[in-house]
Formats: sequence, C-alpha cells, structure tokens
Amino acid sequence: MRLNKEWTIKGIAMAVTGIILVLAGIAFAQHRNFKEEVVLGPGVTAVRTLGDYFTPLKGGPNDANVFILDSGEPGGTMLVLGASHPEEPATSLTAHLLVENARVEQGKLIVVIHSNPSASTVTRPGDAYPRFFHIESDWGIKKFRMGDRWANPLDSWPDPETYVHFPSGQLLAYMDVRNLNRTWPGRANGSLAEQTCYAFMRLIEAEGVDLVIDLHEAELEYPIIGTIVAHQRALRIAAMASMTLTAEEFRIGMEISPLALHGLSHREIGDHSNAPAFLAETPQPFLDRVRGITDESLLLTGKDEFVMKAGERGLLYWPIDEDGWPIDVRVGRHCSTILSIAEFWTMFNRSKPLVVTGVPRYADVVAEGVGRFFADPRGASAQVVLE
Ligand SMILES: [Zn+2]
Repeated sequence: MRLNKEWTIKGIAMAVTGIILVLAGIAFAQHRNFKEEVVLGPGVTAVRTLGDYFTPLKGGPNDANVFILDSGEPGGTMLVLGASHPEEPATSLTAHLLVENARVEQGKLIVVIHSNPSASTVTRPGDAYPRFFHIESDWGIKKFRMGDRWANPLDSWPDPETYVHFPSGQLLAYMDVRNLNRTWPGRANGSLAEQTCYAFMRLIEAEGVDLVIDLHEAELEYPIIGTIVAHQRALRIAAMASMTLTAEEFRIGMEISPLALHGLSHREIGDHSNAPAFLAETPQPFLDRVRGITDESLLLTGKDEFVMKAGERGLLYWPIDEDGWPIDVRVGRHCSTILSIAEFWTMFNRSKPLVVTGVPRYADVVAEGVGRFFADPRGASAQVVLE
C-alpha cells in the first residue's frame, strides 16, 4: 500500500516535470525559429550573406544577412554591425532602421542587423529575460527577438576549459569563445564566433571596407558606457564626433582602444585590416546586475528604481533619473553617432566621401519614436527579407 502511494507521488512529479519540459521546449523553439521582417529600403542594392565571403558559414546558424547600400558613386565604404551582442536591442534596431531608411549619395554602406545570429536565438532564462519585444508603429506592432551575449550552445558546443584567443594567445573566460566581441579577428577552423569574425574580415577585404562601426549597449555599472571606443587610426574622427555630438545633441565620450586587450572589434579589425574600427556604447539599465523585474517594459523604457538607487549611492558610471533610458533615446544616439562618424570620415578623407541621407538624427527618433521609421511588411510594394 505504502509502495503504491510512493509510486503515485513519483508518477505525478514526473508527469508535472514532463509537462513543464514540453511547455518550456515549445517556448524555446518559438523563440529560436522566430524571424524578424525587414522591409528593404530605397537604398538597398543587394542582399548577400556572410557565407558568400566564407563558404563554410553558408546555410548555417551564422550565415547572417549582409545588406549592401551602394550609391554607385565612388567614395568610402562603411560597415555597421548590429547585435554583436543581441541582448543589446538598440543596436539591431538601429541597423534595421538603416536598412529600411538610409539612402547613400556617395560611397557604400554595408549593414548587418544580427552579426552573431546564433546568439539572437537564445535568451537568458535564468535571468528571466523576455523572449520578444514589440515596437509600436503607424501601421501596427512590430515584433523582435531578444537575444543573449553569447552564441547559442546548441550551435557552438562544448566550450573549452580556457579560451585561448587567436592569434594573441591571451587567456579569456571560457564562454567568451562564443562572444563575438572577444573572437576578432577570428580563424577559419575555430569556434562558430571565431569563424564568424573570420568571415567578417574576409568581407572587409572583399568589399574594400574603409571603416567599421560596431554598435553596443552597456549596463550603467560598467565604466565603458556612453562613449565611442576608437582604434588609434580612428582617433581624430572619434574625437571630432564626440565633441560635436556633445556640443549639439547629447553627451558622449571618447576612449582609445587598449593596445593589449585582445579579441575586441575596435582593436583587432584595425590591427588586421585597412579599416579602423569604432565601437559605440549607449546606456541600457536592463543589463545592470542590481535591476528589478527584468521584463519587456524595462527593456523598452530603461526605467528602474533599483538602478536609480544605485546611482544615488554613487555606484554607477552614468546618470539615470525617473526618465530612464528609453529605446528611442538609445537608438537615436546610435543614429547620430553613425551619421557624425560618416561626416567626419568625409571631412578627413575628401577623396573617399561617404554621404548618407534619409536616416533620422537623435532628436527625430526621440520626438517621433523608433517605430515611425519601420515600414509595413504587408505594404503593397514591400520587399521583405526574413532576419
Ligand atoms: Zn556589447
């Protein structure tokens, strides 16, 4: 009798566990397979994928879409990388906005919305991340995937005990073998992230890229925030952009990429190609360790009383008040930073001008909301690419 009771309890526990596993599995699969809809804007002249530059990636998890906006006029070529870390959603939104809105009058713009697509197919369930977020637009609600910092272990496994960066030999944390901003310049036979960086380096060579902007967001507890980090060959442009943006639009700093810190885009791209690299950071309270409820609202509004409290105690490197750091402000900052870097690139490189129009500046995105700049994928003439 007693045996039967025990087995009944065990049976119920197993059934409940099974149901939870199935429900969680469905939720994970929905997120992993969800595709964002990108409406090709007037400036897009071709859509390639990373596998076109490094065949082993073709058809795999990181065969990222590469949007080419070529003016047909001679000039500079700029590569903008969104979502190197997909848990920093203002970066993919900014890149997405560029694809749908930018017109290039001189030179060529190349945009990648999800630079490490695998990392955008997983979130952090242990940190209670939302799977999706939604942006309101004139025509309805547009849905996006939230992602993680590292490539999905389903696509890149196992991690080494210690990650030895190639080619410097520097020792880094084991999971950073899946972190796109620790695996530059990459290698052909390395981890998925290393192969992805290797493919980007081949793209930079093949397309004759002159400068790279890698978009990021950071927690306010982190000292590298609200700033442009620049390779030593990009300092003049970064300094001018930082000064002008701070005088005219919003406060943004400027830092020199450390010489001995390896794997980062702003160090390795500049060291291993002709293209100097910039990394732009906006503040994202969602990433702060001391945050409260980690939901879509925090992701979009950047308002959090616990992060504010940390600020009152002097624990943050960037200010925050009851207005928070809304997604429109963060995307607007990235838009103006990209435009400003392009303007100063042109000023210092008269023979290789880069003239981009159609992209809203900070004040426009804040006033109108980022959703205003996304087209209806069901519009009559919309050409849609799934991302
Ligand atoms: Zn980042």
